Amino acid sequence: AWAQVEMGPPDAILGITEAYKRDGDARKINLGVGAYRTDAGKPYVLSSVAQAEQSILRQSLDKEYLPITGLAKFTSAAASLAYGGDALERVAVTQSISGTGALRIGGAFLERFHTGKAIYVPGPTWGNHGAVFRDCGLKVGQYRYFDPQTNGLNLGGMLEDIRALPKGSLVLLHACAHNPTGVDPSAAQWAEIQRVVEECEHVAFFDMAYQGFASGDVDRDASALRSFVAANRAPVLLAQSFAKNMGLYGERVGTFSVVGNDSAERDRLLSQVKILVRPMYSNPPVHGARIAGEVLSDPALRQMWLGEVREMAERIIRMRAALRGELEGLGSKKKWNHITDQIGMFCFTGLSPAQVDRLASEFHVYLTRDGRVSIAGITTGNVKYLAESIHNVTKD
Ligand code: PMP
Repeated sequence: AWAQVEMGPPDAILGITEAYKRDGDARKINLGVGAYRTDAGKPYVLSSVAQAEQSILRQSLDKEYLPITGLAKFTSAAASLAYGGDALERVAVTQSISGTGALRIGGAFLERFHTGKAIYVPGPTWGNHGAVFRDCGLKVGQYRYFDPQTNGLNLGGMLEDIRALPKGSLVLLHACAHNPTGVDPSAAQWAEIQRVVEECEHVAFFDMAYQGFASGDVDRDASALRSFVAANRAPVLLAQSFAKNMGLYGERVGTFSVVGNDSAERDRLLSQVKILVRPMYSNPPVHGARIAGEVLSDPALRQMWLGEVREMAERIIRMRAALRGELEGLGSKKKWNHITDQIGMFCFTGLSPAQVDRLASEFHVYLTRDGRVSIAGITTGNVKYLAESIHNVTKD
């Protein structure tokens, strides 16, 4: 029956990890991973998360189904974390299979209830956005975002493209720590983006996969989202993930929400979200949501978690400074200010595909061919060797 089914291409990022694993050199570095690593290069289970899990295990809870929209203790705490104290009575929120699942529910919601049937994402954007939205039946277009000349934001191009979209278009925005570029708008630039989105009556779909990971401050990282919601002019949707900021990658903990005009609209929206979710997976998994719900709502665990998020963000910021410092110390003629100007887990280095290939074949350093480096893969132990390797492939 399946003879006509062809072999699909392998996932680009998984391919890098495979090549890294095969490499026997002791100096090898994997800069492809999209997960946080400690300064010893190890996966990190947050103490707040481990303690929450212990306390849940001690309660010997049952394994009954959750409601369609998930664990209320978790979703309401998650919504407050994202939106702050205001507007919560307007937010229709459901638990989701992490950020990807939230994007998928949002895509299905927009496909069903929005007339545009096309969503516009930044160029470039997270590799999965296109596939997620296309599989929801939406067309996917791009607006300009990254400027390869400056390795920074092309604000003029971005605003021009967003303004040129048909009135009422769907615009996907990375709330903070843009993946893959690490380039975030400043507060003043966000204000301009918001003004244009509102003037054009566009719909803003925020993807917030890194709250706290950019600046170390969960409120500051949510400020663009909150500013849109406070103005209440552009319709807002949100995909929220706890994979990175709680290190709950494999537990698949997140939320999807859509903001209504008032609580009556919220109720109508939520009723339709339930109708979308039920035939997809009936109801979400319980364990990770219990952990995140406990971390967010127990005051002591929450404080501990906020400190741990800050610690992760600060290690990333330190490694950016160290890499730039080493490169400059080697006398590199290239400009490396973007390494420290950019923010979050990733850095768009500006390395060419040929330079990336040389890094792998000659120096045992692995990253995606677009030149994206996961800063989480850098440690005080490998940053010097990494800088030497980058300097070697960029110096002539
Ligand atoms: N959006 C962006 C921009 C991401 O970088 C990621 C994770 N790489 C996600 C969404 C979703 O991740 P998850 O499904 O693990 O929450």
